[in-house]
Amino acid sequence: MSTAYEIRGVTCRLGGRVIVRDVDLDVHHGEVLALVGPNGAGKSTLLGALTGDVPVERGEVRLGGRPLGQWSAADLARTRAVLLQANQVSFPFTVREVVEMGRSPWVGRTSAAEDDAAIAEAIERTDIAHLLDRPFTALSGGEKARASLARVLAQQTDVVLLDEPTAALDLRHQEEVLVVARSLAAAGRAVVVVLHDLSLAAARADRIAIVDDGRIVSVGEPADVLTPERVEQVYGIEVHVLPAPDGHPLVVPHRERSDTASD
Ligand code: ADP
Ligand code: MG
Repeated sequence: MSTAYEIRGVTCRLGGRVIVRDVDLDVHHGEVLALVGPNGAGKSTLLGALTGDVPVERGEVRLGGRPLGQWSAADLARTRAVLLQANQVSFPFTVREVVEMGRSPWVGRTSAAEDDAAIAEAIERTDIAHLLDRPFTALSGGEKARASLARVLAQQTDVVLLDEPTAALDLRHQEEVLVVARSLAAAGRAVVVVLHDLSLAAARADRIAIVDDGRIVSVGEPADVLTPERVEQVYGIEVHVLPAPDGHPLVVPHRERSDTASD
């Protein structure tokens, strides 16, 4: 597998505070890498360092072997696509227009037929055909997330960065987003996805990186990374790690029955 990102000793400071500390990480083509970790751990900031939107104070991010700072904005837009945590569309564009925006980096380089095919595929994979004429701003949270993912897919980039794409989604659509991520990886793309559901990450990611207080405290295959001790240490909650029927680890908090009659 070739390397998409090489991240070496990356430190990012925002608002006077160090948010990402001395991170080393490689992201390979053909893999889904899940970033997990508590709220405020620095996952979105690290993703911002990968997109080039968050300045790197120390260290280096290389994409395709080239330092990120040497990329033109136009080349970057044809190479990596980003789904931000907040779906930042404030004008009442229709859903179709939002998806079409994914093609803007390719203007003048692709035929109308190629653009139409990319848009149609993105619409189909995100299950939004029934929403195309609706204003984006009038969609539910989950519908917005899927329309935004369609824009990202329509961009047809080698690298796809998704910040909590499943946060607002129902069970079926959560699974479908990760199935899409897997199919991108199978086609040789590199996918980095921020997730909160550790069991979902374990089932669908090739590797998991746990971010805690700006550091990557563990990275590797899900079964190696998601030990009860490590999850408890990072999240501050006791968990069971059980084998799911498909063999992947399931992470379940210790829960006391609250309906036990006292007598
Ligand atoms: P996560 O995505 O893991 O929840 P973030 O990367 O969004 O975490 O944020 C990590 C920390 O950095 C948080 O404490 C957050 O308040 C802080 N932070 C994020 N963006 C900024 C910013 N622009 N200025 C100052 N602090 C920020
Ligand atoms: Mg975040």
